[in-house]
Amino acid sequence: MSELAIDRNIDRSKMHVSDQVAIEITGMNKWYGAFHVLRDINLTVYEGERIVIAGPSGSGKSTLIRCINRLEEHQKGKIIVDGTELSSDLKNIDKIRSEVGMCFQHFNLFPHLTILENCTLAPIWVRKTPRKEAEETAMHFLEKVKIPEQADKYPGQLSGGQQQRVAIARSLCMKPRIMLFDEPTSALDPEMIKEVLDTMIELAEEGMTMLCVTHEMGFARQVANRVIFMDAGQIVEQNEPEEFFNNPQNERTKLFLSQIL
Ligand code: ADP
Ligand code: MG
Repeated sequence: MSELAIDRNIDRSKMHVSDQVAIEITGMNKWYGAFHVLRDINLTVYEGERIVIAGPSGSGKSTLIRCINRLEEHQKGKIIVDGTELSSDLKNIDKIRSEVGMCFQHFNLFPHLTILENCTLAPIWVRKTPRKEAEETAMHFLEKVKIPEQADKYPGQLSGGQQQRVAIARSLCMKPRIMLFDEPTSALDPEMIKEVLDTMIELAEEGMTMLCVTHEMGFARQVANRVIFMDAGQIVEQNEPEEFFNNPQNERTKLFLSQIL
């Protein structure tokens, strides 16, 4: 784990937390077979929040964020995203997935498609966006993540950091209102971590609602408005970063912080 210094001024002028609810999770429980992996999760995320989810390996962080766009199914309680309840109703699942972008530790790009094709595939085939328009949007976001010159290459020709930025651009092409990140920098070499964090910081600066599972505590301190600590399938503590790091209340949080900081 690392605490990378973020050596830039962060523009907070557009980082407003609104009183509009983006995600509402109440009494949510999930089991993998007999294993009770998430217990009584209650979490309200407001538009514009930048939430970092921390906690030991196996505590359920990935499962929690994967439940939000139905990559995993919960069995009890409610998840409501932008007013739509996640149920087995495919219409609702589609609507929620159209509003929620996701970025994983392993970038999951299609190796046989170019960078541009990776970015236009879903807009063309899922959204029925005309190809030309999809390509213009893709180039816009590739410029945003600072790799427009890679558009015609294949994922295997790019560095890990570049591939992760493509994965972020690809998500943005679907114009999500919420972005979920699951350890987006964990598979990267240190010099590439920074370029991906920079991209995430820019998204935050534009007011994107973000839930990030990450061990980058520098990012948590400087970008998050709230840090959530999970252990054994529960949210055991949450606070604004300053309080979370300087004045943790729960013994498990204290132990975790003493090990990583
Ligand atoms: P984290 O992201 O915090 O490391 P995960 O959400 O990946 O935690 O996993 C939480 C627990 O659920 C772990 O004990 C893990 O082994 C278990 N788990 C994760 N995925 C599955 C699965 N598909 N089937 C069974 N158990 C799983
Ligand atoms: Mg995980």
